[in-house]
Amino acid sequence: LYLRYIQNEKAEAVNHVAASLAHEVRNPLTTVLGFLQLIKSGTFPQEKTERFLEISMEEIRRTEQILSEYLSISKPHLPFQQRIELTAQIKSVVELMISYANMSNVALSSDSPQSDLYISGSPAELKQLLVNFIKNAIEACKDVDNGMVSITVYEETDQVAVEIKDNGIGMTPEQLSRLGSIYYSTKMSGTGLGLTFSYQAIRAMNGSVSVRSSPRSGTVFLITLPRANLNP
Ligand code: ADP
Ligand code: MG
Repeated sequence: LYLRYIQNEKAEAVNHVAASLAHEVRNPLTTVLGFLQLIKSGTFPQEKTERFLEISMEEIRRTEQILSEYLSISKPHLPFQQRIELTAQIKSVVELMISYANMSNVALSSDSPQSDLYISGSPAELKQLLVNFIKNAIEACKDVDNGMVSITVYEETDQVAVEIKDNGIGMTPEQLSRLGSIYYSTKMSGTGLGLTFSYQAIRAMNGSVSVRSSPRSGTVFLITLPRANLNP
């Protein structure tokens, strides 16, 4: 009886993920299909047609992102640890996110100490979690004037801290308490998987996260990670 209970619970979790994934993916598919039909009708000027194609491509990119978020959440965290130089990783993620920030009218900046800072973990997971935090920060600033996101790295004796600060919409205490719960999202087309994955990945690296936020003034996430030994 006990075994069956567990199996049912697992089956339910799988159903939940499948249903939610189907829902997330169906919306962009419907949009793209609609635009393809419009384009096929041939009744629109070149300029309009190009816009339809652009929106369709954006929707396909979004679907891809949704799928990769779902995959990352269902994968166990890699036990494989590697020495990673943090400041270089952050630079490359910031570069990656610049176009998204520009598109959203948000200034993105970063500041790191000169010296090399080593941590240990999976480079792919570190990159994904930094993308998740920065993406959320940019999205929080979308509708504010002078939206700004800044990433600062602090060097401590045994740890490094990465601060991701935005002056966006912020969160209420109630929203803060739900942060990191699977599927928790306040966005029209959010998955609510980004932070769930990121918190898991940080835990897998023996790190921790803290957050300060208030409505309309912005949010500060502080990720703390242990430094790797100097001698690998
Ligand atoms: P998603 O981005 O798909 O909604 P996440 O797990 O990345 O899912 O984030 C969950 C929720 O946490 C968001 O929908 C938002 O309400 C809140 N959130 C996360 N980061 C911020 C931030 N920097 N500012 C305001 N709200 C945030
Ligand atoms: Mg997100």
